Amino acid sequence: MIPAPFEYHSPTSLKEALDLLTSKEDVKLLAGGQSLVPLMKLRLAKPKHIVDLGGIPGLESIREEGDGISIGALATHAEVESSDLLRKRCPLLPQTAATIADVQVRNRGTLGGSLAHADPAGDLPATILALDAQMKTVGPKGERWIKAEDFFFGLLMTALEPDEILTEVKVPVLEHAKTAYLKAAQRASGFAVVGVAACLKLDARGTCEEIAVGVTGVADKAYRAAEVERRLKGKRLDAKLIEVAAYEVCRSIDVVEDINGSKEYRTHLARVYTGRAIEAALSA
Ligand SMILES: Cc1cc2nc3c(=O)[nH]c(=O)nc-3n(C[C@H](O)[C@H](O)[C@H](O)COP(=O)(O)OP(=O)(O)OC[C@H]3O[C@@H](n4cnc5c(N)ncnc54)[C@H](O)[C@@H]3O)c2cc1C
Repeated sequence: MIPAPFEYHSPTSLKEALDLLTSKEDVKLLAGGQSLVPLMKLRLAKPKHIVDLGGIPGLESIREEGDGISIGALATHAEVESSDLLRKRCPLLPQTAATIADVQVRNRGTLGGSLAHADPAGDLPATILALDAQMKTVGPKGERWIKAEDFFFGLLMTALEPDEILTEVKVPVLEHAKTAYLKAAQRASGFAVVGVAACLKLDARGTCEEIAVGVTGVADKAYRAAEVERRLKGKRLDAKLIEVAAYEVCRSIDVVEDINGSKEYRTHLARVYTGRAIEAALSA
């Protein structure tokens, strides 16, 4: 349970962090340490250099900007959960952050760390997909924005290059949207065996104008339940319609199997939780 030796660096600017990232061999960025440190203790990760992002000012801010809300990559789950701005203008994100693990993990773990780590059972990727969020990175070639749909590649794999730092996440302001995040949690850790983020808008007559359903825990990466969305968009939602649509949540998905659940059990949970999340959003 003791990590392999490493050299610790504590840059105070993004430039300094980037210089370290590009000039040293075998470097890992450290944010909240809630995923990286356990891996290091188990010696599944043995980086020679640790670059701690915690001393870089401004990377934890949460502010309204244009038509969206900009969240610094170092904003902790607890800061996201308790942000008045997000609660009013993009409640799905605090609703999700509040379900992560326990208060100790939420006080240390960060939004950027969760997304960069891309744990297939992590909660935030489902929500980031449902929100059509965008991720801003900086690297030696400059800055770039990556859409949520292009960000997650697979188990612990993202579109981030090894020499890039995720600095910001931009989410939309949700005017009149109804949202909910529900999960069947693994008892010991709180990770999602299945987690579903639902975000929808109804028109004046109660027809579903827009719907986004993000799913985590089911496959090797979070995904949008496109067939569920297709079956509900443009319809007046009722319990039967939602149940029938939710049945399609694993359509074309290679459902994972592990000690927390067989393929059949996960598929069943995904259907049940998709229905419940949509119903919960509707009554929000
Ligand atoms: C007991 C326990 C229970 C947990 N339960 C849950 C849960 O219920 N739901 C859930 O979603 N998560 C859970 N987690 C994980 C937690 O949410 C972590 O906070 C998160 O996965 C990683 O965030 P971090 O800031 O700690 O990142 P770190 O551990 O510091 O880093 C993780 C990885 O991301 C990279 N990285 C970090 N920041 C950046 C950046 N800005 N740019 C580029 N790369 C970066 C690091 O190099 C590293 O590879 C749990 C963790 C623990 C220890």
